[in-house]
Amino acid sequence: VPPAREAPLFLGIDVGSVSTNVVLIDRHGAVRDAVYVRTGGDPVAAIRAGLRQLAENGLAWRMVAACGASGSARRLAAALTGSDLVKNEITAHAVAAAHCVPDVRTVIEIGGQDSKLICLREGIACDFAMNTVCAAGTGAFLDAQAARLGIPVEQFGALARRARGCVAIAGRCTVFAESDMVHKQQLGHPIESIVKGLCQALVRNYLTDVARGRDILPPIVFQGGVSANAGIRDALEHALGQTVIVPKYNTVMGAIGMALLVRMHFDAGLIAATSFRGAAALSGEARVSSFECLDCPNRCEVMEVCLAGHGKACWNDRCGKRSL
Ligand code: SF4
Repeated sequence: VPPAREAPLFLGIDVGSVSTNVVLIDRHGAVRDAVYVRTGGDPVAAIRAGLRQLAENGLAWRMVAACGASGSARRLAAALTGSDLVKNEITAHAVAAAHCVPDVRTVIEIGGQDSKLICLREGIACDFAMNTVCAAGTGAFLDAQAARLGIPVEQFGALARRARGCVAIAGRCTVFAESDMVHKQQLGHPIESIVKGLCQALVRNYLTDVARGRDILPPIVFQGGVSANAGIRDALEHALGQTVIVPKYNTVMGAIGMALLVRMHFDAGLIAATSFRGAAALSGEARVSSFECLDCPNRCEVMEVCLAGHGKACWNDRCGKRSL
């Protein structure tokens, strides 16, 4: 890709287990385009679909001055696209939140399968926590209950807001929540109140699992896929007694943070000429295989992809040591 001459743009890619996000920002940090793709167990296809969508939306590859990758499959994304910078998603999420709300002190990030808490002081991330093995404080908890109720999870927010009361759902895990929910339905509680109770259960699970023992100081930014759900937003504000701020691009903040980081490096002169592969990233063989890591009792099913002529990269390792 020849160097960007006109209107340089910075590309940020965030590849997670549920979604793959690609974002373009300009020199001033304004978002010029943002694409959200379901990862669907195939990050190579998801990254390519995201890039293809940007091109269809009018991106000329030569305008990309620098590119960066984040998320659990960041090494794979970097190898595939020729990224100039790779950072973990904690850093990317913190940078994006501080860009939107400069004095932010807490970032609550709840995604489809994992959730995080990041504490910032003076704009710098100083502590963080992630959900470990339990998905009860993530979007997966709501998805499971929505499927059981036969109601699209997107309707949960509006339903919870219509509730006159709230039914307490005892649920430290999906199985207990489901049986309690069935019991409450049999008792004749309205569905709105049950949905509101589920939103509160997710927030309770998040606060006891991920946020346990940590100070949640305002301003609080709430981001990630679940932050689009007004029922969860209300439940969080109720539990914390604080206002939470949901940024405009709440579902693609990791990619925005990555684009901002790459712009900083570019402006500091640390990226002289981008390695971004442009259209070449869209094709070429990508052979995927898997192996079981036996280095600890987690025994992760690690995925490995070999990119013809561009090395190989791993993902799906819980500790990150295989994808270094
Ligand atoms: S990848 Fe890490 S967490 Fe997973 S089994 Fe190996 S050492 Fe354990």
